[in-house]
Amino acid sequence: MTVTRFAPSPNGPLHLGHAYSAIVAHDLAKERGGRFLLRIEDIDGARSRPEMADEFRADLAWLGLEWEEVPAQSTRIAAYAQSAERLKAEGLLYSCRCTRGEIAAAATTVGPDGPVYPGTCRGRGVNPAGAAWRLDVAEALRRTGPLTWSDERAGEQAARPELGGDPVLVRKDAETPASYHLAVTVDDAADGVTLVTRGTDLFPASHLHRLLQELLALPVLVWHHHPLLLDADGQKLAKRRGSPSLADRRLAGDDGHALAVALRAGRLPAGITFGE
Ligand code: GLU
Repeated sequence: MTVTRFAPSPNGPLHLGHAYSAIVAHDLAKERGGRFLLRIEDIDGARSRPEMADEFRADLAWLGLEWEEVPAQSTRIAAYAQSAERLKAEGLLYSCRCTRGEIAAAATTVGPDGPVYPGTCRGRGVNPAGAAWRLDVAEALRRTGPLTWSDERAGEQAARPELGGDPVLVRKDAETPASYHLAVTVDDAADGVTLVTRGTDLFPASHLHRLLQELLALPVLVWHHHPLLLDADGQKLAKRRGSPSLADRRLAGDDGHALAVALRAGRLPAGITFGE
């Protein structure tokens, strides 16, 4: 059975791009007789605002969607810690205390998320107290051998997790220690997701998530990265760039069902276009 999910982070209101993402995930599940899940990704401690999750639910209902909610990430810290311990025990993680500034200064390549960590602390045995833990991607790939994954739109992919550098899987922040990459991989398996639907901005992350699935012996999922909605400058919609939120539209009395119909038909408000 197809199981999809919409996994928003409660650190800012949902906007039109989120509405499109939720509708894609919802419709792909429903067309195939499957299930559509909502998961609140609330482990970004400093920026998370729990009350926003209620707004999200109201937004999805306003769009006419129906969902099943699965546990929020903040309830699953122990599961992430367990997965991290497993990778540590296998010698696949190393401690790192580099600051953003140090990484920016040492990096020789820039990836979609900024300067690519150049592996400074690999093999150095940095004091682990209060350090972050990174995955040694080269060593991990030596153990797994070449991996592939499949995207419903882009087709079969050779996994290239090395392009993003060695990612942080355990953050310095003791309150919410798991990084997005570890948490989302553990959660998608725990929630029984079969089809990961999300925007193409997260396409590069899927190379890494495929590797993590292999290392943690989790089911291999299929992905569906959908086009992003872009503003008049060709930038992806974001609250900080002034895109009106769904809550603004909802509270102004706009018709959410009509908006969902328009998005499904590919009719976007003036000035907004589909990217790749
Ligand atoms: N929580 C992530 C976000 O809001 C989405 C994660 C995902 O779909 O994998 O950007």
